[in-house]
Amino acid sequence: MGQPLGLPTALMVLRITQAQTEAIRRHGARDYPSECCGALLGKVDGDAKQVMEVAALKNVRHNPSYAQELLPVDDLARETERNRFLIDPLEQLRMEKDARARGLDVLGYYHSHPDHPARPSVYDREHAWPWYSYIIVSVERGVAKDVTCWVLAEDGGVFNPESVEVIE
Ligand SMILES: [Zn+2]
Repeated sequence: MGQPLGLPTALMVLRITQAQTEAIRRHGARDYPSECCGALLGKVDGDAKQVMEVAALKNVRHNPSYAQELLPVDDLARETERNRFLIDPLEQLRMEKDARARGLDVLGYYHSHPDHPARPSVYDREHAWPWYSYIIVSVERGVAKDVTCWVLAEDGGVFNPESVEVIE
């Protein structure tokens, strides 16, 4: 079947080093049983998003009253730092500014799923933007397991697995 006109057709690959994926796994294990989160910084190189830095960020769901002001959840008893993450917009701005000053772009984000598979939740999909790479690491009983990567379809309806090239 042909590509519909007017839609971006280029699929990209996320290129990341073994050491960077290990940093994400360590962050997930360290913050267990809470969800950890962070940003993937780097450069676009042809059809590859080349990760150059993994930047850990704070999960502000640890501070429920502040998090509720930023992005309310329906059920504060069930939606906590153990199954939700939220990046402070001020910290995000600082991080983006600092990255740009060093010639880097935000390529995506990562977070952990404590005691849940490394698959995006409906919540994850609803709070994602197209193009960015979303890495999820599953952490079972404090031990980091699977690392997966997802990219939102252009219409926002589905999260598709993204190709990842792990380099040394
Ligand atoms: Zn998630």
